[in-house]
Amino acid sequence: MAGKAKKKVKIEVEKNQDPQEEAVVMMPQDEEGPEVGIEDLPGVGPATAEKLREAGFDELLALAVMSPADLADQAEIGEAVASKIIAASKKMANIGGFVSGGALLERRREVQKLSSKVQSIDDLLGGGFETQALVEVYGAFGSGKTQIGHQLAVNCTLPLESGGLDGDVFYIDTEDTFRPERITQMARGLDLDPDQVLSRIHVARAYNSAHQMLLVDEIKRMSKGLDVKMIIVDSLTSHFRAEFIGRGMLANRQQKLNKHLKELKQLADINNALVLVTNQVHSKPDAMWGDPTKPIGGHVLAHASTFRLYLRKAKAGRRIARLVDSPNLPDGECVYNVTQEGLRD
Ligand code: ADP
Ligand code: MG
Repeated sequence: MAGKAKKKVKIEVEKNQDPQEEAVVMMPQDEEGPEVGIEDLPGVGPATAEKLREAGFDELLALAVMSPADLADQAEIGEAVASKIIAASKKMANIGGFVSGGALLERRREVQKLSSKVQSIDDLLGGGFETQALVEVYGAFGSGKTQIGHQLAVNCTLPLESGGLDGDVFYIDTEDTFRPERITQMARGLDLDPDQVLSRIHVARAYNSAHQMLLVDEIKRMSKGLDVKMIIVDSLTSHFRAEFIGRGMLANRQQKLNKHLKELKQLADINNALVLVTNQVHSKPDAMWGDPTKPIGGHVLAHASTFRLYLRKAKAGRRIARLVDSPNLPDGECVYNVTQEGLRD
C-alpha cells in the first residue's frame, strides 16, 4: 500500500466543464461491465434524454423506481411514454444482487476504526468512526461540525496503532471554513509535525453544487498514488440548499444529492475509507425546509448515511454528540470539549 505518499496535491477542475456531462463519465471501478445509460433505452431519443436529464434523471435506477404519473409530471413527458421508460429501465438497470451473509461478514472484517481521540465519542461509536461508512454530522451553526472534520482529518494521518488510518484525506470545503492554522493547532495537540499532517490533507473549495459533484470525480482521478482513507464534505448540503429553491426544485435537488451521495459511498467502499459529511438543521421552519431540529436533505440523506451524529452546545462551552439511527449500536449521547488543542474529553 502507498501508505507513505506525502505528495501535496491540488485539485483543479476546469470551470467550463458541463456538469451534465459528468453523468455519462464511467466509474473506473465498476466491476459489472459497461454501464447502460438512459440513451440506451428503447424509444428514448436525444430530445427525451435531454428532458429526463433536465429533470435530474441521469441513470436507469432513478427511473426504474418512479411511478409513471410522477415521471410524466417531473420530466414533462406523456404518461404512456413514462410508463414505457420505467418498464425498460427496470429491465436494463443494474439493480444489484444478493450476496451471502458470509461474504458480507468477510467485507466487514476489513472495516477499520478511526479514533476521535475522545474516549466518550469513541465509546458512543463502538470504538471509533468506521471505514466503508458514510457518517453525517449535523447540527446548528457553531455546534462544532467543522471542528470534528478538522480533528478527524488530523487523526486520519496517525498510524494504526495510535487510532489513525495512516491515510490521506480529501476535504471538500463548500463554506470556506477549512483553516490550515486549525489543523496546525490540532496536530501540535497530538505531538505531530503540522507540516507532515498538512501535506496529507488535500483541500478543494467547491464553488457550487455542480462543482462539488465534479470534485468527487477528481478525487477518483487523484487517489491513484495515494492511500485515501477519508473524504470530508463540509458542508454537504449548503450549495444544494442555496441553489435549488422552491417546491418545484425539490425532486431535482434530491436526485442530484442522491447521486452525489452514491458516488461518495462508492469511494468509501473502494478505498475502505470513511466519508464524513456535515449538514445543517433547518434554521427557518417552513413548507420547504420543515422542522428546525431536523437535518436538511430529507430521506435521501437519512438513507444514505450509516451513522448520524447530532451535535449541540451544552453549558460551559461543552458539546453534546448524539448518535441517531445506527444500524448496530444503541442510540446515546456523549459530552466533550473543543479546546485550542482539539477535541478532548
Ligand atoms: P459549525 O461547523 O457546526 O458551524 P464549528 O465547527 O465551526 O461549527 O465550531 C465553531 C466553534 O468551535 C467555535 O464557536 C468555538 O467554540 C470552537 N472553536 C473553534 N476554534 C477553536 C479554538 N482554537 N479553540 C477552542 N475552541 C474553538
Ligand atoms: Mg462549519
